[in-house]
Amino acid sequence: MQNCLVSGGRRAFRIELPDGRRYWSVIDENYDAVELADRFLFDLRFGRDRAESTTRVYAGELARFLAWCATSGRSLEVAAQELSRFVLLLRTTATERPGAGQGRSPGPGRINHVLAVVREFYKHSVALGAIDASVLASLYEVADDRFLPAELRPEGSGLRYRAAPRHRLRASRSAQPEAASQAEWEALLEAATCWRDRFLLVVLWFLGLRIGEALGLRRCDLHFVEHATGMGCGVEGPHLHVVHREDNPNHASAKSRNERVVPVGPIVLAYYDRYSHERLSCPQADGCDFVFVNLFHAPLGRPMSPSAFRQRLRSLSRRAGLARPVHPHMLRHATGTQMTEAGVAIDVVQALLGHGSITSTQIYVHPSAARLRQAVEAVEALSVTRNHSKTTEHVKKARTAPTKGDGDGH
Ligand SMILES: [Zn+2]
Repeated sequence: MQNCLVSGGRRAFRIELPDGRRYWSVIDENYDAVELADRFLFDLRFGRDRAESTTRVYAGELARFLAWCATSGRSLEVAAQELSRFVLLLRTTATERPGAGQGRSPGPGRINHVLAVVREFYKHSVALGAIDASVLASLYEVADDRFLPAELRPEGSGLRYRAAPRHRLRASRSAQPEAASQAEWEALLEAATCWRDRFLLVVLWFLGLRIGEALGLRRCDLHFVEHATGMGCGVEGPHLHVVHREDNPNHASAKSRNERVVPVGPIVLAYYDRYSHERLSCPQADGCDFVFVNLFHAPLGRPMSPSAFRQRLRSLSRRAGLARPVHPHMLRHATGTQMTEAGVAIDVVQALLGHGSITSTQIYVHPSAARLRQAVEAVEALSVTRNHSKTTEHVKKARTAPTKGDGDGH
C-alpha cells in the first residue's frame, strides 16, 4: 500500500486487493477506511470501470472534504447544508501539493471539480440508503431548461426541469490552458540538449499526444514504415498506436481506453532517427521497451516519468528565456489550434487528439480574424456567383456610383 495527499486526518490511500486489482480510497488517522467514501470509490473503480488514476484524483478531493467535516465536527447532512463554507475554505487555502498551482489558492475550475466529486459521493451514498435523500435538496436546486442552449434541450419538448448544482463558481475562459506559440516551441527545441527531448517536443507539437500517452509509448507501438503488414498491422504509411495500459511503471497512461492510430510525418521520423542513435549510447536502455527512457540520470534506461518531463520543460523554458513556463498540455493545445486553423474538419481533429466528446475538441477552435474575414468573403462571393442578376447589378452600381450622400448616413 502507498499513500499520499495527506489532508488533516483524512487521506487518499492506495489499496491493493489480494487479486492484484488496485484502487484509491480514503482513510482516517487510525488507518481505517472511511466507509461511505470507500464504497463510493470501490464502485467507481470496479462498478463503473473508471481508471485507477481517476479514483486517485477523486480520493484526494474527497479526503479534503471529509477532513473538513471531521475537523469541524459536521455530520454529512450538516456539511451538505453548509457547503458554501467549504467552498470559502477552498477559495482561501493555498494548494500544498507540489505542482504548477502550489502556494496559490485553487481556481474556479479546480474548485468546481472538487464540488462535482462531493456531489457524486452524496448521490452514491443516498442510492446506498446510507444518507437520507433529503440531503440532495441542499446540493441541488430544481431549475427549468429554458436558458440551456438549444442543442442541450430534448427535441420537441416543452419546458423540462432538471437538477442544477447549487454551488458552482463561474469559471473564466482564461482558465483554459493556453496554446504554446510556434516561437516558444522553437525556442524550446533550440534550448534542448539532447535528441530525446527534441523528439519528444516534436511528437507533442505535431501529433498532439497527451504527455502520459507519449511517455507510455512502447517501441512496438511505433510503426514507422510504409507497410506495417509484417508487424501484423494493416494501416498504410508511417504511424503510431496510442494504447491504454494501466500498469506502466512510470505512471504514464493514455487517458482514453480506445486505442487510436496517429499518422506520422517526415519531420517526426527524422527526429526519431536521431534519437534512436542517441538511445544506443545508453546500454541500460537496451532492454527497455519504452520509447522515452532516462539517458543521463538515474535510474538509467528506465522509462521517463511525466513529472520528470514537466520539470525538464520548466527548466528548458528558463534556459530558452521564455516569458512563461510551457506545460506539456500547451503543446497539445497548440496542435489542436493549428489543425483547426489549417481548416482540418473538427471530427478529424477529434479523432487525432483522441477526444471522447466533440465538446472537448471545440475548445481548440479559436476563429482568427483571418478566418472570420474569409467566411464573410465566401458569402459575398457566393451571392455574386449564384447568378442572382439583381444582386450582381446592385453590386456593380455600388462599386461604380460616386459616393454622394444618400441621406441616411450608414
Ligand atoms: Zn500499426
